[in-house]
Order: sequence, then structure tokens, then C-alpha cells
Amino acid sequence: MVRKFEYTDILGWSHSRYNTFTRCKRQYYYQYYAKYDLDNMVKIAVLKKLTSVALEIGNISHKLLKTLLTRLRKTADEIDRVRFFDYAERKSKDIFRTKIFQEVYYRDKNRVDFETEIYPYVNAAMDNLLESDRLQWLFEEALVEKDDWLIEPDGYGECRIDSMKAYCKVDFLFPIGDEIYVIDWKTGKQSGKHLEQLKGYAAWVHFHYEKDWSLIKPVVAYLLPEYEEKSVTINEFDIEDFTEKIRRETEAMYEFLQEPELNIPKEKEAFDMTENLKLCKFCNFRELCDRV
Ligand code: SF4
Repeated sequence: MVRKFEYTDILGWSHSRYNTFTRCKRQYYYQYYAKYDLDNMVKIAVLKKLTSVALEIGNISHKLLKTLLTRLRKTADEIDRVRFFDYAERKSKDIFRTKIFQEVYYRDKNRVDFETEIYPYVNAAMDNLLESDRLQWLFEEALVEKDDWLIEPDGYGECRIDSMKAYCKVDFLFPIGDEIYVIDWKTGKQSGKHLEQLKGYAAWVHFHYEKDWSLIKPVVAYLLPEYEEKSVTINEFDIEDFTEKIRRETEAMYEFLQEPELNIPKEKEAFDMTENLKLCKFCNFRELCDRV
């Protein structure tokens, strides 16, 4: 059973938060502490909502996967692919129309073409999953306990790792017998960081379901260019290392707070702009840093 938490201001570690922190301190400030930058608050809110072609392929794919798995949970009837892809294209287009792309906002290109830059990849991601052994296996093995599936649960995936507040939001969780599987869907390139992320999902399951590490099976599933899975075996020694890492990273982020109990940041000037200008090319906030 997933445990609930009362809201507190305390800073919580997450993989994406610490990634942003290491990439550029100023980007981290804009992303997490915008309300303290009174002069730019409104502009930051607009820029935060910008998306990119790569992000949107992932975002749309996740929404479609949620629909697909929710449908699978309701009925074990074979999926009507013509109807599913008809729905997928319409839904993708609806989402696409609501988005502002940073490539267009910053005039790197005139427009993003849904037909050539977005939908072919979303379509391929869905097709790859539908053709995968994993989907077949879900039909055969996992449907028995479908009432216990978690499909993109609401919230931010809060948990505690050795009493530290942390967020590890799982995409899809399902039990098979005593074991619990967690699948994290990816549409981007493979990276060693994704395997590290799996430890966070294992920690989340361990905290909420009180499962032994050996019974937790975290998997990262790459949907593009082909369907491919990677997983890691985790035991208590890996988790000790992981916990130490979370502690170090949390403390590093605390260094930038003037009031840790309330998560109030130091002055903006304490958050340096990166010297790696290549990173700025992909940043939503480049207008504010005069790095357009
Ligand atoms: S534009 Fe560059 S310096 Fe400014 S927030 Fe983004 S990454 Fe950091």
C-alpha cells in the first residue's frame, strides 16, 4: 500500500532535481525557486512550460502508454491496433497543439512539424511495445494481479530513503507472485544514469511495500529505436552506496539554502551560470541569461 505524506517545505532529493543542480546552478534556481525572483517570476513561469521535440515525444508516449495499460487492465481482449493507432494519432495531435516548443520560441526553426518530427517516433514507440515480448508476457503473467497495478500514479513519488525525503516517481508497477516489477519507459538514448535511477525506484518500492530487495525487479524499457530492456540486480550493499549518494547530493543542495527548514534559497547571485555554453543551447531560460 502506498503511504501518504503531509506536505512539508523540506527539500526532497530527486534524480531530475540533482541533475539540474549539477548542470547549471542558475537553471536550478529558475526551475525550483522561481517565486523568489520577483522581477522575473512571470517570465520564468512561461519559459518553464516550453517543451522540446525530444521531450514531447517522451511526454506523448507516456500518455498513450497510460491509456494502453489502463485498457489492458480492464479487459484481456486483444488490442485492436487500427483503432488504437487512430486514437494515438488524434490524441498526440491534440497534445502537440497545446505546446510551445523552445526550438520555435528561440527561433532555431520556424515550426515543428507534427507529421515528420513527432508522430512517426511516437507511433514507432507504441508499435515497438505492442510487438514486444514484454507486452505478451504482461498478457500471460501479470494480468492475474491487475487490480494491484500502478499506472503512472498521481503525485510526485514521495518516499523516505534512510529518513531523507526523496521523490522517485514510477511509471508502471505490477506484482507477480511475491515479486514487484517496476518499469520505467524511455524514448531517448540509453544512458548509465538510467540504471542508477532504477535504484531510486527500488527504494520507493522497498519503502512503500516493505519488500525485500531481492523481490524488487526494476527495469528500464527503451521504446526507440527498437524495444530493449535493461535491469539491475540490487541488494542491501548497493542500497547502502545509493543511500550515501543521496545523502551527499542532498547536502550539496542544502548548501544553497539560507533557511533549510523552509527550503528558502540563498540570493540568486549565489547560483552561478554555467560556463559550458553548449548547455545553454538546450535551456528554456537562455533569454534570462542573455545567452540566446
Ligand atoms: S541559459 Fe545557460 S546559464 Fe542560463 S540558466 Fe540556462 S544553462 Fe544556465
